[in-house]
Amino acid sequence: MSSVRVRIAPSPTGDPHVGTAFIALFNMIFARHHDGKFILRIEDTDQSRSKEEYEKNIFKALYWCNLKWDEGPDVGGNYGPYRQSERLSIYKEHSEILLSKGKAYKCFCTSDDLDEMREMSKKNGGRQGYDRRCRNLSEEEIREKEQKGLSYTVRLKVPLTGECVYEDAIRGRITCPWADVDDQVLMKSDGFPTYHMANIVDDHLMEISHVIRGDEWMSSVPKHVLLYESFGWTPPVFMHMPLLLGADGKKLSKRRNPTSIFFFRDSGYLPEALLNFLSLMGYSMPGDREIYSIDDIIAEFDEKRIGISGAVFDNKKLDWINQQYLIKNIPEENLWNRIKEWQFNDAFMAKLVPLVHTRIKTFADFMDMCDFFFINDLKYTPELFAVPKASPLSACLIIQAIIWILDQKEDWGSESLNETSRVVAEMFGVNHKKVIMRLLFASIMGKQQGPPLFDSAEVLGKDRTRARFLRSIEFLGGISNKKMDILKKSFDSGDCKALIEENL
Ligand code: GLU
Repeated sequence: MSSVRVRIAPSPTGDPHVGTAFIALFNMIFARHHDGKFILRIEDTDQSRSKEEYEKNIFKALYWCNLKWDEGPDVGGNYGPYRQSERLSIYKEHSEILLSKGKAYKCFCTSDDLDEMREMSKKNGGRQGYDRRCRNLSEEEIREKEQKGLSYTVRLKVPLTGECVYEDAIRGRITCPWADVDDQVLMKSDGFPTYHMANIVDDHLMEISHVIRGDEWMSSVPKHVLLYESFGWTPPVFMHMPLLLGADGKKLSKRRNPTSIFFFRDSGYLPEALLNFLSLMGYSMPGDREIYSIDDIIAEFDEKRIGISGAVFDNKKLDWINQQYLIKNIPEENLWNRIKEWQFNDAFMAKLVPLVHTRIKTFADFMDMCDFFFINDLKYTPELFAVPKASPLSACLIIQAIIWILDQKEDWGSESLNETSRVVAEMFGVNHKKVIMRLLFASIMGKQQGPPLFDSAEVLGKDRTRARFLRSIEFLGGISNKKMDILKKSFDSGDCKALIEENL
């Protein structure tokens, strides 16, 4: 029996990201290639951001991709529980071990103290981060503070000199001066662990042999290596996968690109094509083959073929790969069935019928009204977005403000969009119907009018609506970083009227 055990450890704090599918894919390939186990662990210790709905969507999205794990909260296993919120006593116990070994210390600083520290170091240009003032408290001082009932966090005692050296199986030897590493909080004052603490304790107790994850986590490795050392444990092998980049060369982010797995599902992509495409972003098959099955990679997997530099998410390439799969894997006689399964199904049509019922004059009008539900690239024109008073840039700012509010509310439903559109009209001092509604019709439907706007957006779904907003902003010329900062300030003050000036 192989001792290879790998895991993905998503946090249920947002929509299921293609990056999660990318990392899950390589973990699954690695596990299958080595005849090991692939585990899914839910890292839900951020109480304010974790949601059950997001967790459900992670399962749903990964299963849609055909990524299956051997152990996890939904399928069980011998190393559970697989949800961190159900393991709190384990972390507490382990933080006490570190305290008793003198590898960690109690920190009584309040958030005000920390703010003050930050201000001071900014002013003096000194070292950023925690100034370690609680690191050398005497036993007596600690007792006194505890008797007063002061709450505390537990911090890791990071060496003050020297450097951390570790091997990454993909990137080779990495060194990092300890002076660059902060005394990381391991346990928060509410008794919850931070990511670092829970992640290391779980990886050890779940006997994870290889940590395969995105390279945005590399900066955490020194803390992790030190934690393993402090406990007296052997660390797993680290393998950091390249970052997924957007067309702009920056990290693929929902702020600029559609990133939800559901966006690709709802836009009519095949999961096997998406996985093939994602695998190409991290791996090169011998002979530079581009179309192959996951079983092909599993069979010949060689970690030396994993890429190091970030790969750009090229939508045209994804379209091409998807087309190859449509041709190769779906015979003509099955195509209509697959399209029906996608969105020409009864359940989806039942959502459209109330939107058009009293509006169509003939059946043929149905397609005319509902085409935007089935089309990915709407034909935008400048005229479509030309609204009184607002320049194309102002239109971008308005749409961006709408995205921010809906994201803040974490609610992209009909009611929420309706309410938000009114708030934004007020905020920018523009006519709701003539400006905001027109922009929204243009962006969501690619036309000046259509079925009820807000209900349609809800049926279209958050991911595709969001993607259309982003595409409209891009179509209208985009928002420079400078303008984005100006917008953010006005937005935070609740008054964006000055941004509607003609030549902004
Ligand atoms: N919870 C982290 C995430 O959201 C896990 C990172 C890791 O794999 O260590 O991706």
